[in-house]
Amino acid sequence: MSRKKRKKRSPRRRKKRRANRSYQERTRNGALFAEPYFAEVPMPLIVDAHADLAWNMLTYRRDYTRAAAETRQIEAGSKTVEENGDTLLGWPDYQRGQVCVVFSTLYVAPERWKLHETETQVYKDFQEANRLYRSQLDVYHRLTDDHPDKFRLIRSSSDLDLLLDHWQGEHLHPHSPAEKEHPVGLVILMEGGEGIRDLSELEEWHELGVRLIGPAWAGTRFCGGTKEPGPLTSDGKKLLGAMTDYNFILDLSHMDEASAVEALDTYEGPIVATHANCLALLPDYPTNRQLSDRVIRGLIERDGVLGLVPYSNFLKSGWTRKSGGRNEVPLEQFIAHIDHVCQMAGDSLHAGIGTDFDGGFGMQSVPPEIDTIADLQKLGPLLEARGYSLTDVENILGRNWLRHLKRELPDS
Ligand SMILES: [Zn+2]
Repeated sequence: MSRKKRKKRSPRRRKKRRANRSYQERTRNGALFAEPYFAEVPMPLIVDAHADLAWNMLTYRRDYTRAAAETRQIEAGSKTVEENGDTLLGWPDYQRGQVCVVFSTLYVAPERWKLHETETQVYKDFQEANRLYRSQLDVYHRLTDDHPDKFRLIRSSSDLDLLLDHWQGEHLHPHSPAEKEHPVGLVILMEGGEGIRDLSELEEWHELGVRLIGPAWAGTRFCGGTKEPGPLTSDGKKLLGAMTDYNFILDLSHMDEASAVEALDTYEGPIVATHANCLALLPDYPTNRQLSDRVIRGLIERDGVLGLVPYSNFLKSGWTRKSGGRNEVPLEQFIAHIDHVCQMAGDSLHAGIGTDFDGGFGMQSVPPEIDTIADLQKLGPLLEARGYSLTDVENILGRNWLRHLKRELPDS
């Protein structure tokens, strides 16, 4: 397990220099800053490192082959919107926003945290958790079997290469017409981990396509989690040991700081955090859900990526859909979290996006600039205004996750 030494340097100055060079290389007429770069170069690819698609499909019967606008029309005035907001996701929106890969969760909650009477994806015991996690996995298998033109499972780096060929084919084959529509790659992430009844099951979960495991949501028998703090348990240590055998990517999101720090020291496989923000910018945040600088530094040292969440409650302490308006939390406040990670790292190689869109909140609870996930492309100009180069923007919007997957997924 190699640890990289962090060099002290001035990230902001370095970014400015790189920005100039990058624009000069990329713009067609060579004129710097004459136009916003979107007029000059293709939109960067986006990776969303966290979406509870199966949970939505089973709980609310959402159909993600539709556009978000269509789903909203169908759901107008329904309990779904009351509970989970207006959807931000849909395949046509993924196309418009160039979202090529989505980390798609298996997410079920312990019954003690059940929020709504209608909730079906809750478990009383590990047997039930196992059954629910499996049914969510089936949802992804059906979705990708029934709509291979729209969604594809990504299990290996060769799957990822094929997918990216599809999205970027015009660069690889300049004489053949580019396809206009592309399948979205789904990488399966088990959040909460309690569907694993016994460590001997890991082989089967891997075989079925799970590539990331987050051992916490609330506290689990593996470790302390959100609102239920605590260290890694002996079961948790055994889980990490067994995960190493399959090179599962460990997701630190929801892990309590004590367990996250221990995992950073001991887990021998790859480590990321798919959806969490920076505690340093949210000093009054009421729970242990956000990541301390200590954990972020550890992630950077382990060459991980942090998926930052553009959810207003994760950008302004105390903000809720009932008490606050959308305009109270502009997208600029999300940029601050991206910038915090980049400044800590001294580069743009460790910040990413993990929206958690539709995971308990919708359009009403994101910055006003965002109507659907396609609007994440608006991050580019905002980052540019802070001195980030196009290369930096590409890294943050998707390349960091793609590089990490390419390195850590099985070859085939
Ligand atoms: Zn979560």
